[in-house]
Amino acid sequence: MTELFSEHYLTYQKIKYVSSIICLTALGIFNLCEEDTPIILSVFTLLILYLTNELLARFDSKIKNNVIAKLCFIEVLLFNIFDYMFPMNSFSKLLWTILILASGLTFIVNSSEFDKSTIFARKIIFCIVISLKTFITINKTSEEEWFTYIFIQFILVAVLFLVIDSYVQLSDTYDSIKRKLTIEKSIIESNNEKLIDYQERVKNINEQLNYQKIDLAKTLRELEQVNTEIESHTEIMKYMASTFDLLKCMNVITDAVMDIKSPKLCAFYVDKNVYQNKESSCIIKSNYTSMQRRLKKDIDDIFEVMSKELDDKCKILKGSYIKEYRFVGDANINSLAFLPIKDKKRMYGLMIVGSDESNFFDKGTNYYESCIVEFNSAIKSTNLYLQMEDMARKDGLTGIYNRVYNTELFKKVSKEAVLKNRNLTVALFDIDKFKKVNDTYGHLAGDEVIKMVARVASKYADKYNGFACRFGGEEFLLTLPEKDDKESVEILESMHNEIKNTVVTVGDFDISINVCIGVSSYPRLCDNPDLLVNRADKAMYYGKKNGRGRLVFDNPDIDNDL
Ligand code: GH3
Ligand code: MG
Ligand code: MG
Repeated sequence: MTELFSEHYLTYQKIKYVSSIICLTALGIFNLCEEDTPIILSVFTLLILYLTNELLARFDSKIKNNVIAKLCFIEVLLFNIFDYMFPMNSFSKLLWTILILASGLTFIVNSSEFDKSTIFARKIIFCIVISLKTFITINKTSEEEWFTYIFIQFILVAVLFLVIDSYVQLSDTYDSIKRKLTIEKSIIESNNEKLIDYQERVKNINEQLNYQKIDLAKTLRELEQVNTEIESHTEIMKYMASTFDLLKCMNVITDAVMDIKSPKLCAFYVDKNVYQNKESSCIIKSNYTSMQRRLKKDIDDIFEVMSKELDDKCKILKGSYIKEYRFVGDANINSLAFLPIKDKKRMYGLMIVGSDESNFFDKGTNYYESCIVEFNSAIKSTNLYLQMEDMARKDGLTGIYNRVYNTELFKKVSKEAVLKNRNLTVALFDIDKFKKVNDTYGHLAGDEVIKMVARVASKYADKYNGFACRFGGEEFLLTLPEKDDKESVEILESMHNEIKNTVVTVGDFDISINVCIGVSSYPRLCDNPDLLVNRADKAMYYGKKNGRGRLVFDNPDIDNDL
């Protein structure tokens, strides 16, 4: 409120001085004063005060506040002196009194900070000044005038004090409202600050949530990918558990890789003699057919190099290194991985994966390695199965096929011979006087003789695309598909000679034996393939009866002899 007052104080003073000057000039013009001197002096004084006031306006508001009260007190004193010194009529007296009261108002109120004791003290000072002037003036005026003068003075001072009191009251109310408002404002401001802070925190949390949301979406995508990979591994494992066909397994693996990872190339190579495969096997999947073709040609050499170069880890190539491999050619391959397929003993295969994305293998090669692990176990179980199958098919002493498997094989070839009208010859042979060998040199020596005959039989079977088996104790059966009796003569004579001429050395003994061979051939000697072995047996029996150590072909005599 004080600031408010001091803010408008200069305007208020201007109005006061200008209106006073106008009034005094009017008094002079209309000759309402007894003398001109006081009016001129008053106008002059008011002008000086006006200018002082203007000068003060240039200063800082703090200086103004301190000085204003003092200046107004000087004004009060000055106007009272003027009032006393110059005889004026009642108009001018009223004007002076109003001026004194106006200055008094400013003196009492301004810079008091509405402190009640300050205002009271200033009121007393003001009353003393007014009373002094009034009492001094008493001598100059008549009793009637004096009374009126005092009365008016009293009324005006009372009005002034009333105005001041109500002003102070108003100011108190204003200040208390202002204080309340200030407190409320500060509460609102602090609440606002809290709200802003809260808003900021909510914003931060929101941002974090958004990041987490993005992370979660990414993790979800990765989980989905892992899930698909696990599903694919399950499928691969299921398939591998259900078959011993490793070429199909290789196909399933390469298909799965192409489906799940979508590379531009996936090749799976297995070296020869890994699962009783006489040749290396390779499955290559790619959209680039020319690259596929080139890789097929180069894969054996690449494997040879890689089996020396790669240790346990895979080799991943990027950029220009890839072009060093001829098979890549113009294909858009920007990352290439060579993964070793190996068991504890050796690296027996190679997986090659190529992609057009240069960061294709940045997430690792776990998927491919897991496929290799699955293939490894498939190889192991397949080899175990093959070994068992081999054991079931082969004779324990000689290592050539047994009679059971021979029957199986024979069914196939005999069926084919009938269907495709092909020749089929069988030779059944028995070691002559074998009991004597056993008796003379012992059973172990006898075993060695049996093994020798089996070896020779097997050699001729392989040479002429046939198969041999141990038919009984020291009896053997050689089957020669697509051979007629004439073609077989030379083969069987040669085999017979080899058996005869092979000496089995056991300790200090050199053992030589002979065999009797019975032969039958479809369709020239026997028109029913199911009777071929039986006919060969009869021929052999005939040979045994007729001197042993000979080759007897199926002929009607063998029946007569029985
Ligand atoms: P033949 O000229 O008439 O054939 O006279 P053989 O003495 O050979 O007579 P036979 O064929 O009847 O004799 C077979 C003998 O072969 C009987 C058996 O003791 C022997 N033998 C069978 N299996 C084995 C084997 O695994 N090892 C050995 N050492 N001897 C066997
Ligand atoms: Mg026998
Ligand atoms: Mg015999």
